Amino acid sequence: MFDSVLIANRGEIACRVIRTCRRLGVRTISVFSEADRGALFTRLADVAVSIGPSPASDSYLRGDRIVAVAQQTGAQAIHPGYGFLAENAGFARACAAAGVRFIGPSPDAMEAMGLKDAAKALMERVGVPVVPGYHGADQDDGRLLHEAACIGFPVLIKAVAGGGGKGMRRVDAHSDFLGALAAARREAQGSFGDSRVLVEKYLEKPRHIELQILADAHGNTLHLHERDCSLQRRHQKVVEEAPAPSVPPALRKAMGDAAVQAARAVQYEGAGTVEMIVDVAAGLSERFYFMEMNTRLQVEHPVTELITGLDLVEWQLRIAAGEHLPLTQEQLPLRGHAIEVRVCAEEPAADFAPRTGSLRHVAWPQHPHLRVETGVTTGDDVSVFYDSMIAKLVVWGEDRAQAIRVLSQCLAQVELAGVQTNLSFLKAAIDQPAFRTGDVHTGFLAQHREAILARPAGWFSDTVALAVMGLLRQREQGGNASPWSDRRSFRVNAPATDVLLLSLQGRALDVVVRFDGARTELRFEGQVVSVEQAVLTGQQLTVISGERLLQASYVVDGERAFLLREAESHELRVRALFLAAAEDAGALGVVRSPLPGRILSVFVATGQRVQKGEPLVSLEAMKMEHTLRASADGVVQSVSVKAQEQVVEGGTLLVLHDPDAEKE
Ligand code: ADP
Ligand code: ADP
Ligand code: MG
Repeated sequence: MFDSVLIANRGEIACRVIRTCRRLGVRTISVFSEADRGALFTRLADVAVSIGPSPASDSYLRGDRIVAVAQQTGAQAIHPGYGFLAENAGFARACAAAGVRFIGPSPDAMEAMGLKDAAKALMERVGVPVVPGYHGADQDDGRLLHEAACIGFPVLIKAVAGGGGKGMRRVDAHSDFLGALAAARREAQGSFGDSRVLVEKYLEKPRHIELQILADAHGNTLHLHERDCSLQRRHQKVVEEAPAPSVPPALRKAMGDAAVQAARAVQYEGAGTVEMIVDVAAGLSERFYFMEMNTRLQVEHPVTELITGLDLVEWQLRIAAGEHLPLTQEQLPLRGHAIEVRVCAEEPAADFAPRTGSLRHVAWPQHPHLRVETGVTTGDDVSVFYDSMIAKLVVWGEDRAQAIRVLSQCLAQVELAGVQTNLSFLKAAIDQPAFRTGDVHTGFLAQHREAILARPAGWFSDTVALAVMGLLRQREQGGNASPWSDRRSFRVNAPATDVLLLSLQGRALDVVVRFDGARTELRFEGQVVSVEQAVLTGQQLTVISGERLLQASYVVDGERAFLLREAESHELRVRALFLAAAEDAGALGVVRSPLPGRILSVFVATGQRVQKGEPLVSLEAMKMEHTLRASADGVVQSVSVKAQEQVVEGGTLLVLHDPDAEKE
């Protein structure tokens, strides 16, 4: 075994590799960019060396600098993680030339599998089924169009150098082909510097099933069963599990044998993955096709570790150090079921657009069968420089149903604030009945999008109740809070009414709060919510509303607070807080604006009965927010303004009158 290993990567995978190295007593050297100065993985490593500016092209892709650091620090081997230089044959050759062991397959094996057309041709030669299509050298428009017509639409155009779901175009009709071809070529040239494409049959309802391979330098090649990675967005994996749901043993064996054959065809060494596509349009058939081989450790490798009990990083190191695989194919365990979800900084409702920001609060749940793989802690940034993955949550269960239940519970308890994430999307996705029955395919997330993004009835009012009660309790506990509790005790006869001008997730929210003995009534956006009890202990908030018990975490972060519950984070800010006694400008008769300004909210409607002290209108004037209140009980006869409208000083806002006077 090596004495020291350099990890040419960052974030969660660097942390993951360091963990196994430490267990094996291997000294670790990390390299980091400017943006990662002080990051978790640099603190976990024994040695951390700066390699350049934040952009990956100036740091994590600078193979020359990384090899130089390995030589300076005496690292015997380099683990490339995934992404960056992991599948770069030139880098593997540079390592060898410098006398440093590259932990991975030979550069030749990487190259043989690096281009999709050559890999498909090789697989055909060794008898591994490939998706029907054309992957020849002739790139002439007419030839490709002819081949597409022979395959039959729909077809998929793929960049031969593609990866990460890029450079792919589905074409449904003959007439669309040449336009899509031009677009695919442009994207391929831009992303990979290679405009060549292949064309293959587009499978309408496929599953992505892949085989984990381990091969030693002594001719032993094993597959560690399969993973199902069918839940994807933009052809990229989001949820992965092992084993694949409802795969019959015969299919598992056939796919496993084919994957081993694929690896043997390139004299594969180390850990790798053979990706297959299986057509399930007419149920789970026995037909599977080779898609590509990824010649590295994969993001989703932990699910395989949890069902086999093997540490894949340990075996990468042992194989690179020349050891023999300890097990035969028949001895390889398959116990229970494991699922992983990728928690990313992104907004699912906005077509999964990536988001950046500072993680203000990070807390992971505890569960004996939960593994959290992450590279960030509270205070870290999700920057524009690298990918948007914040963490992977991986659970093990005795069976698939148990694994889903545990994962769903754990997801509900994750607390991430400060950056938008896909957490609640992930939870809703695995909670879908169709996921629970195992009806997975690559179109699953698109098919169930509406249901996944939907919120249960009462979701918004519960959120507001928790946010407002958290704020009120926090103010009572803080130094500037006494007016709230004091005032209620003085008003024994009339309920006190106040207005909270808040912003919840950046959206203005005005809440009229009435304290009525122990009960608190909240009115906002046409809803009325009654709160019987609210307790804030540390960051734990418990609210009883109606008959229901609501719970959340309430985390104060300077000028704002975060309400965290059910895999969601809601940012709360106070636009202004007014006490009932502050103003009494709304006299009976014509209610006029005391200042020139802009209307923020109108709290009443024509015909509404109001009590003395009740808020009528709030406006922003002289950079301050003012609330006008009824000076006496009355009825709103007319309203002249609406939110966002500008008003002049003395302008009519509404007319209030005394209903009893009218009767006379
Ligand atoms: P997997 O099949 O293991 O999920 P992905 O295609 O999702 O692999 O890629 C794994 C990681 O590597 C992702 O974080 C992705 O952003 C990154 N990655 C993929 N290709 C490249 C590349 N060419 N350069 C840098 N990073 C890459
Ligand atoms: P990448 O190198 O970007 O990972 P892959 O060839 O592995 O490219 O394909 C990525 C994803 O695209 C697959 O997981 C699958 O969802 C989809 N895909 C690939 N080939 C086909 C096909 N022939 N028909 C339908 N979907 C496909
Ligand atoms: Mg792939």
